[in-house]
Amino acid sequence: MIPRYPFLDLATVNAPFMDEIRERVGNVITSGRYVGGQQVAAFEDALARFAETDFAIGVSNGLDALRLILRAYVAMGVMKPGDEVIVPANTYVASVLAISDAGLVPVLAEPFSLTSNLDMARLREYLTPRTRGVMVVHLYGRACWSSELEEFVRENNLKVIEDNAQAIGASIMTPTRGRLHTGGLGDAAAFSFYPTKNIGAMGDAGAVTTSDPELASTVRALANYGSDRRYHNLFRGFNCRLDPVQAAVLNVKLPHVDTENAVRREIAKAYLATISNPAIRLPFAPDDPEEMVWHQFVVHVDDRDSFIALLDKNSIGWDIHYATPPYRQPCYSDLSDGFWPVADRLADTCVSLPITRCTSLADAGEIAGILNSYR
Ligand SMILES: *Cc1c(COP(=O)(O)O)cnc(C)c1O
Repeated sequence: MIPRYPFLDLATVNAPFMDEIRERVGNVITSGRYVGGQQVAAFEDALARFAETDFAIGVSNGLDALRLILRAYVAMGVMKPGDEVIVPANTYVASVLAISDAGLVPVLAEPFSLTSNLDMARLREYLTPRTRGVMVVHLYGRACWSSELEEFVRENNLKVIEDNAQAIGASIMTPTRGRLHTGGLGDAAAFSFYPTKNIGAMGDAGAVTTSDPELASTVRALANYGSDRRYHNLFRGFNCRLDPVQAAVLNVKLPHVDTENAVRREIAKAYLATISNPAIRLPFAPDDPEEMVWHQFVVHVDDRDSFIALLDKNSIGWDIHYATPPYRQPCYSDLSDGFWPVADRLADTCVSLPITRCTSLADAGEIAGILNSYR
């Protein structure tokens, strides 16, 4: 049964773009060129321009984008197996998978409870002689950047890898470089265009952005069997290329990223203005609205079961991002002897509310009214 207030319905999200998508995808189908080609090249150009980086490489998905960045740093000798990368403990498991996949060691850092992003004041706790990088995750669409971070990575000669799966279109005022979009802040960034992201494809898709020419060429080669030119294999690579059909979809949607994010900002604004209940902790809205693109609208409640019962009773869609942090997953039982009370608490109390164009402002007001009745 479709809830009265659906959490997300992708057909509704894509409806405004369908005519143009049909035409562009049709062109790919009739072109006879099904790997690489003009749609992929055009998307890479557009994304590099958007992120203000020198290079963008379309790849198969967000996890592969992260894996390729880290594998490239290992291939370049910038990182060695056993080196450590600091990553927030409360991220989606894919961020951590990419680090361990490259033979590197994920060092799980506590988030700041107000933002759910890395706690910048605590970064030094995780530094060891083997630390080579920090993976910042712009969780829930909130840009994660600060002068403390810039100082920390400069002093310790670390690479910053952005997991920008959730925050395409967010931007933040940097200490010395003016306003930058996420994806252009660090040394390299991974984008996911999984269908549910703010800009989603109609299948799996992702991208890497960077202004480091050696990293760009290494990622591009690794994603194409490790081949730097035809039938010449510089690396033991993979096949992680962006599908041109997905590139065609993304070429239609990317120019609308700001208007799509504006829809989410309006819903967030409505929730923040109308949900008023001491039993529900609302997400912290940054002073600068550009820093947040509201991939999720996450509230925190002490008694999640009773809260969800109210949502279900009123046919309000919901989700949990994420109930089980990476260190509580069976595949990372080797990491589980750490101590992450802030991440634990966030995981045990978070609930995501509907925040896509499937939710009208009137719906948001009605949802707020129902939430205000929660005891
Ligand atoms: C979605 C997501 C990924 C993985 O992207 P895929 O395209 O699904 O592989 C990685 N990190 C975060 C934070 C994500 O939300």
